Amino acid sequence: MPQATGQGLYIHIPFCHQRCHFCAFYLEIHHTRAAEEFVASLLTELRLYSEGTLLGPAPLDSIYFGGGTPTTLSSLQLAKILGAAKQSFGLAQDAEVSVEAHPGSVTRDGLAHLREAGFTRVSFGAESMDQTELDRVGRPGSPMSTVQAVAAAREAGFTDINLDLMYGLPGQTVDSWATSLRQMIELAPTHLSCYALTVEEGTHLRTAIQRDLVPAPDEGLQNGMEDLAEDFLSRAGYTRYEISNYCRPGFASRHNRLHWTGGHYLGAGPSAQSYVAGRRFGNVSNLVDYNAALRNGRLPVSESDQLTEADDSCERLVFGLRLTDGVSLRETGALSFHELMEKVNDLIGDDILERNGELVRLTSRGRRYADTVAVSLLASLSE
Ligand code: SF4
Repeated sequence: MPQATGQGLYIHIPFCHQRCHFCAFYLEIHHTRAAEEFVASLLTELRLYSEGTLLGPAPLDSIYFGGGTPTTLSSLQLAKILGAAKQSFGLAQDAEVSVEAHPGSVTRDGLAHLREAGFTRVSFGAESMDQTELDRVGRPGSPMSTVQAVAAAREAGFTDINLDLMYGLPGQTVDSWATSLRQMIELAPTHLSCYALTVEEGTHLRTAIQRDLVPAPDEGLQNGMEDLAEDFLSRAGYTRYEISNYCRPGFASRHNRLHWTGGHYLGAGPSAQSYVAGRRFGNVSNLVDYNAALRNGRLPVSESDQLTEADDSCERLVFGLRLTDGVSLRETGALSFHELMEKVNDLIGDDILERNGELVRLTSRGRRYADTVAVSLLASLSE
């Protein structure tokens, strides 16, 4: 079995103040009482895990608060959860502790409190620097709130700051995307994530497209925007280290790297997913059921799958291919599986993958088809 590369904790905070039109994540609209009950449940969940031996004895390399919008909780609540996580699992001295935040939901004092509590990295969902584009997808906040949030984070002592951006938004043009990129670069974050807008089942956006109220994302336009981002960001000193992620030297996200390199991570909170020692498992995507399970002293796990060695190798290959440096066939264990290697060789022949010794990676053409490559590699084992 290939060696894992560290272990981390993901904490899903399932609240937002409103739902963006494109969002399909599990979440509830924030209410103070519901948030208090959730925090109590989450602390119980962390305690139950700490009483077991699921994660190895090594301290955590990363903790990531995602959601939802973690900063719908007060900084006191977030600090309390972080304290419980540290006490439960231990934290490596140089660990990364990230919190996702909506730029409009932070204050300088709140951020300073988070920094003092031990958070090392803040990730703002900026999405666009064009107010009309934000409004069209029901995204609260404004470009100015992003500028102010970054300044507040710096004043609070954060030196590792990520901005999330989206391209292919309704009405977005190559020019407006270029303007957003320039303005984001001026804010000098250490990390930028650029995501193509996708249309998910059950979202307001999907309904609006079906009713011809909003145009569907144009794949050709999105490809052009992706190329523009790589061009602008590389000239500004950022390295594209993963399909959607760019960083200054030394600021790659450690939490994300755990996912891409086969590290173990435990997920807590409703809908959170875990991967530990070849087993994938996930929590129930329902806050009422989540609270009820923990009130009764039970972990809220609703699905669990022990991967075969072949499936585990294939998944590690699929995730590793997201990294621009590629992935070692030997470390994933893929070399042991004939069908998988046949598919890898087919994809090399199609100029989708390229191989250098044991390292394999997506070609620049292949990056456009990363999801299709994943499906076809996973399917190779069941053919
Ligand atoms: S803020 Fe993020 S999690 Fe909340 S609704 Fe919008 S996209 Fe979804």
